[in-house]
Amino acid sequence: MRVGGFIGRILRVNLTTGDVKTEPINWEWARKFFGGKGLAAKYLYEELSAGTDPLSPENMMIFMTGPLTGTVSPCSGKHVVVSKSPASGTFLDCYAGGYWGAELKYAGFDGVIIRGRASKPVYLWIHDGEAEIRDASHLWGKDTHETEKALKEELGKDVKVCSIGPAGENLVKFACITNDLFRQAARGGIGAVMGSKNLKAIAVEGHGGVWVPDIEKFVDVCKSVIDEDVLGREDDHGWAITDGTPIIVGLSQGTALFPTRNFQTGVFEEAEKIGSDAVKAVTVARKACFNCPLACGNITLIKEGRFAGTLVEGPEYETLALTGSNCGIGDLGAIARFNLLCDRLGIDTISAGNVVAFAMELYERGILTKEDTGGLDLRFGNVDAYIQMPELIAYKRGIGGLLAEGVRTAAERIGKGAEKYALHVKGVEYPGYDPRGSYGMALAYATADRGCCHLRAWIVADEAFGDMPPYTFDGKPERVIFLENRNSVKWSLIICDFYLVDYPVMSKLVSACTGWDVSPEELKIAGERIWNLTRLFNVREGFSRKDDTVPPRITTEELPDGVAKGQKIKLEEFEAALSRYYQLRGWDENGIPTEEKLKELGLK
Ligand code: SF4
Repeated sequence: MRVGGFIGRILRVNLTTGDVKTEPINWEWARKFFGGKGLAAKYLYEELSAGTDPLSPENMMIFMTGPLTGTVSPCSGKHVVVSKSPASGTFLDCYAGGYWGAELKYAGFDGVIIRGRASKPVYLWIHDGEAEIRDASHLWGKDTHETEKALKEELGKDVKVCSIGPAGENLVKFACITNDLFRQAARGGIGAVMGSKNLKAIAVEGHGGVWVPDIEKFVDVCKSVIDEDVLGREDDHGWAITDGTPIIVGLSQGTALFPTRNFQTGVFEEAEKIGSDAVKAVTVARKACFNCPLACGNITLIKEGRFAGTLVEGPEYETLALTGSNCGIGDLGAIARFNLLCDRLGIDTISAGNVVAFAMELYERGILTKEDTGGLDLRFGNVDAYIQMPELIAYKRGIGGLLAEGVRTAAERIGKGAEKYALHVKGVEYPGYDPRGSYGMALAYATADRGCCHLRAWIVADEAFGDMPPYTFDGKPERVIFLENRNSVKWSLIICDFYLVDYPVMSKLVSACTGWDVSPEELKIAGERIWNLTRLFNVREGFSRKDDTVPPRITTEELPDGVAKGQKIKLEEFEAALSRYYQLRGWDENGIPTEEKLKELGLK
């Protein structure tokens, strides 16, 4: 069978037995779930037993591309890594930009499914339809940049590498996988899953291509989409070209939802020092993922001060917010260095910023003392202590060992009321938008299928940054559902978040690419189907309404500053919105999809 956009082959690797084999993609599932998130979720749901320990050999890691990956379709350079999360115990999907995903297809595979645990450190070498497991004892202990460099020296300069750093090796609960030096599959501890398998890296190289049934037609469609939709809609996408994500600092600060000092306020007095103009002043180049006309990445070089010489791609908005204002840090050089350390050690910056801010607040409140911190004066804004934290966490040294478990577990172990200061949902730390300044984000975080996430439904763009009233739940369940469904299918094709593509354009792209006749309506249904499938996965793991929560700080403390002053999430209003969300989704009051809904979506 030959379908445009697909290679048609999946690589299966069992690290326990050393078996490496190739099998045809499941075409029935590909037609229903397309690729990326949807297809990988289907493999995970069908093949992983409920209750599997995420760090056991039985857990699966699925690296998956979409039908558009590696083609001339715009903003299609990302791949996804799917697993069961060691941070939340839920379904987990992490997207990374760069060039690795396209290279995997050129190497002859749509996806790689990994199980088992190697008896010693190994890496996987995938090249032109072949794959082998190789010894990685010389790489174990190296950071991600050293690993990438070593593998390029060993295998060739054009090889694309994704790898874990010491944090993944040491099973830090928010360890990430870094590819192309500065791109991460970041959240939920996906790097710890890789570390638990003794898998240091996956190197890929291929010289193949991606076949489409009518190349002239497909190129014409892509050209018109780039000109008219991606570049033509300047109001929607111009920011990515001129600024990149740091532009959000000004928006968050202006709407008083910029996380500051562990979400104690939404206004940071040094926001300008870490905002978009400050980042522009140290930007030395712009960078794009594979075939992306937006090129939103900023390569920055800190030229002065203690951190002079620091070169990094970023910091992105989430890093500026969580490792900057949320830790009381207004020194862009320090944030850039913290960012670089996290990339190299293999740590998610969102969770890292949260755990450090959490510890800083506990320290200032006397719940943690100098004895607990190993002598560190862990006050907000203290760069000397702050800059040591990534290494302490990655190597689980001193206070870092406790924080490496994430805020939920750390709070449980500390006791003394620490849970009150832990910002998370299902054990995954809060992203950079305080929901007290944009109520819909509380619902988006609570219902996210991988634990707390801002990307499933970035409704803040519609409310605090847009036209919807931000301090009410009216109309929010409807909008959150729309975004969750649309993004589920968008991430199955796979198209980058920053291209605000609608169903008709997705339908044009995927139809021209695959040769299938895919209507906008079919994509809508597929998005809903995928969201229900990941909910089913979580329900099977024991999750329900009791887990779709808002942290205590957000429901008990009012924001003290700025335009959102006096705002907090009222629990009864949130619960009513959650009930409406379940009802609109066709789920019962406990958040369980009904038989009727599952039948309607072809999941029964
Ligand atoms: S918009 Fe940015 S993150 Fe998205 S594909 Fe393009 S360069 Fe990568």
